[in-house]
Amino acid sequence: MSGCSKCGRSPFYTRRYSGEVLCEDCFRVSIVEKTRRTMTKHRMVARGDRVAVAVSGGKDSLALLTVLHGLREWHGAEIVAVSVDEGVAGYRDEAIAHARKVASSLGVEHSVVSYEALFGFTLDRALDWKGKRETSSCSFCGVFRRRAIDEAASQAGATVVATAHNLDDYVQTFVMNLLHGDVGRMGWLDPDYEGAGFPARRVKPFMEIYEEEIALFAHRSGIPFQSVSCPYMHEGLRSEVRDYLNEMEAKHPGMKNVLYNSALDVISRYGDREKPSVPCATCGGPSSAGLCSVCRMKELLKHQVNYTA
Ligand code: SF4
Ligand code: ZN
Repeated sequence: MSGCSKCGRSPFYTRRYSGEVLCEDCFRVSIVEKTRRTMTKHRMVARGDRVAVAVSGGKDSLALLTVLHGLREWHGAEIVAVSVDEGVAGYRDEAIAHARKVASSLGVEHSVVSYEALFGFTLDRALDWKGKRETSSCSFCGVFRRRAIDEAASQAGATVVATAHNLDDYVQTFVMNLLHGDVGRMGWLDPDYEGAGFPARRVKPFMEIYEEEIALFAHRSGIPFQSVSCPYMHEGLRSEVRDYLNEMEAKHPGMKNVLYNSALDVISRYGDREKPSVPCATCGGPSSAGLCSVCRMKELLKHQVNYTA
């Protein structure tokens, strides 16, 4: 293998889809530069914004916090970190400890909101109540997670919420929406969606970077992160889609990039977007049909024993 395509030093990573061979320093710089380009292209952050980075304690979110903090002079926004404690005994505590450690080493303000304080139950308890209902644990939990992140961002006075979704997450969601016949939900994937009805604009600065590159970046940057998965993680179709896309990428390097661009094209042409436009009749949160998904899920829980909040 020849030397780094940029500086000639010893090779560290080969970006198969572009043919670039990079040394470790140039690889790390390329991740920061890609993030910067994505942020510029979609005007994600403006000078004077207060950006809440949603940190779970996993590699992607802590890498995002590190990169956005490193770019602070360039974007001119203030960076804070917010975490959600879903209430999963023996799992989230460790992740939050990592988040706390990284935030404090960067000198970034960090706050934590919990399901228990916001909704009156822990995830452990709610899933117990939920029993064997049709909704998967992650679909159920995700509804409350999104609301909790909005709440944390609003408590932190943020104007923007940054999440660490990467290109793999993005194309998987796109394909899953197609497979579920949920074309109406694709408007949510629009990177330029301003998020009317939400307390803060949502941005995904890693959305053009492959997951494996972010993992490598986090690992080589010495970022401590939690690698154990949530015990309730049930990905079902998503893991099949992930395996399929990884297989396609291995056979045809660059295929995920092509799919990403196709997704953007489809989304930009798709006019009839199901985006929240009416405040929820119960809680005032964003909804598309008068009752938001959080309140709908709470209704579902009320039919179970012991839940009164
Ligand atoms: Fe919730 Fe699923 Fe994440 Fe666990 S893996 S915290 S259930 S969304
Ligand atoms: Zn509501």
